[in-house]
Amino acid sequence: QRAEWAKLRNEPTVTCDGHHVELAANIGTPADVTGVIDNGGEAVGLYRTEFLYMGRDQLPTEEEQYNAYKAVLKKMDGKPVVVRTLDIGGDKELPYLGLPGELNPFLGFRAVRLCLERQDIFRIQLRALLRASVHGNLRLMFPMIATLEEFRQAKAILLEEKEKLVVEGIQVADDIQVGIMVEIPSTAVMADQFAKEVDFFSIGTNDLIQYTMAADRMNERVSYLYQPYNPAILRLVKMVIDAAHREGRWVGMCGEMAGDPTAIPLLLGLGLDEFSMSATSILPARSQISKLSLADMQQLAAKALEMHTAEEVVELVKDFTEDSR
Ligand code: PEP
Ligand code: MG
Repeated sequence: QRAEWAKLRNEPTVTCDGHHVELAANIGTPADVTGVIDNGGEAVGLYRTEFLYMGRDQLPTEEEQYNAYKAVLKKMDGKPVVVRTLDIGGDKELPYLGLPGELNPFLGFRAVRLCLERQDIFRIQLRALLRASVHGNLRLMFPMIATLEEFRQAKAILLEEKEKLVVEGIQVADDIQVGIMVEIPSTAVMADQFAKEVDFFSIGTNDLIQYTMAADRMNERVSYLYQPYNPAILRLVKMVIDAAHREGRWVGMCGEMAGDPTAIPLLLGLGLDEFSMSATSILPARSQISKLSLADMQQLAAKALEMHTAEEVVELVKDFTEDSR
């Protein structure tokens, strides 16, 4: 099996009936890029920049950030790199910000909410990213977007920082795609409106599942409710993909679900364009996808959307993929 995977390292990701998708990797540091390339990643689908801010006692400088972003872009050599702006809060704290404790941190002051208030922090990150943009194919996305206003504000700040750099005579790429993570149900429901304003969506199922099912992703006692295959989740994913495609936008997924062999046939059938996963899952996923037909997976997905329970969906996928072998 390993030998078969190795052969796929430099191959595109194509179903047996000729449908292309992109397999990307999630990374946390520039050092992770080596693993992405070794495993045949076609892109970085999620660069979690919060690690630059964690495990230290002060904010990273613009220069430190610039160097990290530039390193990733250069190593990826023109392949797309989706960088997520700071997603702190929830389970990821920055003690040096001195923020008061909250009763419900996962529903609290985190990610883009914090960035829109602490614009001093946000603007430095955006500046570093914009400066680094000339070194590769940068795409930006904002985490935890719940409303259109948040996206508009974040994008306006980005454009302001870009303008400032231009005035300073610093070069900035002018084809940077700007997207959002879809990880809050309100945003999935409003995807048709968002699709008119964003360049792409990346579905963050880790959070989307927890918020849709109202089940803390860290709490073992309610883990039975943390159901990636619940038809409710699949229907939300479908809404997002359909809304994006109607506006000619692409949709990725960067939650754990994107690399899950049981979910991949369903996501393929729902029309997902980009799957972002841990680097070591890429070659197995490429191999799996090469044996599936899009037409069959579309039928499978249509059936799954009509199931009543997550368990039924899992059974359906098992039966369907075994039959087609
Ligand atoms: C997600 O929520 O699915 C996601 C990819 O972000 P994180 O796991 O970093 O919250
Ligand atoms: Mg998330």
